[in-house]
Amino acid sequence: SRREGFSSIPNVKWGDVGGLDLLRREFDRYIVRRIKYPNEYEEYGVDLETGFLLYGPPGCGKTLIAKAVANEAGANFIHIKGPELLNKYVGESELAVRTIFSRARTCSPCILFFDEVDALTTKRGREGGWVVERLLNQLLIELDGADQRKGVYIIGATNRPEVMDQAVLRPGRFGKLMYVPLPNQDERGLILKALSRNKPLDDDVDLIAVARSEACANLSGADLSALMNEAAMAAVEEKFSRIEAASNEGTSSESYVGGMPHTIKAV
Ligand code: ATP
Repeated sequence: SRREGFSSIPNVKWGDVGGLDLLRREFDRYIVRRIKYPNEYEEYGVDLETGFLLYGPPGCGKTLIAKAVANEAGANFIHIKGPELLNKYVGESELAVRTIFSRARTCSPCILFFDEVDALTTKRGREGGWVVERLLNQLLIELDGADQRKGVYIIGATNRPEVMDQAVLRPGRFGKLMYVPLPNQDERGLILKALSRNKPLDDDVDLIAVARSEACANLSGADLSALMNEAAMAAVEEKFSRIEAASNEGTSSESYVGGMPHTIKAV
């Protein structure tokens, strides 16, 4: 795996994200345009929030959105997994937090993404005890140095906002809360569409109908992604079995490959 604090511009585009238009617009206002046109915002003295918390059920696009925002803004992206920061010797976690923020400043404009951020910010006195407490204090120090982190935006993600220490949810820290819900029927359709963007989909596949089907009720984006992947696998395997059947019959496989629609069929 990559070393901690590794930065790069992600290749996730908004077209890869299904639904979540409202969040896209919010991030456009709060991050993308500010990175693209910093002078305008300075001239008008706009002082907006730089810390965000995406919360909601697992697999609904929190990581995906954060990456798409960075891509759209042309900003670097640093992905930190909360629990990994905790798995360290005494004192090392605090040092790691300092190092990460310093890296983010060096490669600004930058989006610093804390996945499973609840691990770092559980209410003091609970679960992790004083190790978490020292880490949390260091994190608060870094978050509060907002004026020194020009062009560095912080996005946290969690499935359990209720266990987080209120102190980190204040303005200037993870100040703006954004809910990322389980997709509804229409949104499931949009997600399936986004997921099939670069796949050879048969004309008779009705993604809207699939999204409406009982089998898809309550599925998350991650579930839909797994479903799409299964469908693609099935299509590939069918293609191979056709080629094999063709060569067993002694027919030239060429003509079959050329003639068959080796595409994803209705699920
Ligand atoms: P967790 O809370 O488990 O970290 P998450 O909310 O960060 O989950 P992601 O990692 O963004 O979820 O999503 C996992 C995968 O599910 C994505 O890589 C993508 O394939 C698919 N997915 C989830 N939501 C969407 C969406 N809205 N549009 C398209 N794909 C999605």
